[in-house]
Amino acid sequence: MEDQAALRHHAQLFLRRPLLFDDPECHIVLMSEDKPWPDSIHAGECEQHEPLVRRVLAPNPSPYTFTGTQTWIVGAGSDVAVIDPGPTGSGLSIGDPADINGAGHVDAILRATEGQRIAAILCTHTHRDHSPAAAPLREATGAPIIGCAPLALTDDGPRADSAFDTDYAPDRILTDGERISGDGWTIEAVATPGHTSNHLCFGLVETGALFTGDHVMAWSTSVVSPPDGDMAAYMVSLSKLYDRKDRVYYPAHGPAVFKPQQLVRGMLGHRKQRERQILRELEKGASVIPDMVKHMYKGLDPRLTGAAGRSVLAHLIDLENRGAVRVQNDEWMLA
Ligand SMILES: [Zn+2]
Repeated sequence: MEDQAALRHHAQLFLRRPLLFDDPECHIVLMSEDKPWPDSIHAGECEQHEPLVRRVLAPNPSPYTFTGTQTWIVGAGSDVAVIDPGPTGSGLSIGDPADINGAGHVDAILRATEGQRIAAILCTHTHRDHSPAAAPLREATGAPIIGCAPLALTDDGPRADSAFDTDYAPDRILTDGERISGDGWTIEAVATPGHTSNHLCFGLVETGALFTGDHVMAWSTSVVSPPDGDMAAYMVSLSKLYDRKDRVYYPAHGPAVFKPQQLVRGMLGHRKQRERQILRELEKGASVIPDMVKHMYKGLDPRLTGAAGRSVLAHLIDLENRGAVRVQNDEWMLA
């Protein structure tokens, strides 16, 4: 395992990433830095965030997962819920060649919950850094897998084969507003499609905390990659969170967000700004996505060119559905 200094360095490197990747004015990241990154970021350790909420970090840091997937444990009494049990085995960090084996994360969750019954294993969505450990955790504890729907894709898209957990098999699917409860805790599902079509956030009713999965994160904007990723749905899901009065967000990657509405407002504004940029690009005669990415994402880390292209495509599809643009042989133009 890397030592703490190395992990902190890693965290700081990636904290800079969104400045280049997706936010020229830096306001999104700055707004989310109102609380320092916690000192203890060792994978496998259990860290208390508030009386009902603990975190265990999975050992899968990467450009897509930041310091790794954060598994959230909810409850302080006789039973708990485990949110996003994380990766397992290989292929856990979405195409990153520096893939780190996730073996041991299930053991870390079991250690953290010793003496308590796991009443529910909840998954926000089925990317491979979130849901694969649900099956071995169910096997070890008998706890049911409850949460997002499995995803049956008719068109996988370029990243989907490595990113989606097709083995995910829930015992119960939660729809928007449905609740489950245990000893001193109640969790409500909040449907938030966009990053993926099956994405759920989970609200902890007793304390006003919201577990946001990959829908809203402080360290980076969410990857919205068609065909499953849907920009129009993502914007609706952002607005839905803006209308809620949650106290704090606990994302699956990166630090907690203590001014959630400010962050969500910034993200909504940021996406609208990207849309205007794309329309300007089309006005100036750019017609293919690589050219638009080159003009729009100055100083982009070359490893993230593909992700930026998917994001531009998601915007273009949304604009096409609204009649503002059209496409012919992969060349885009104003309608
Ligand atoms: Zn994801």
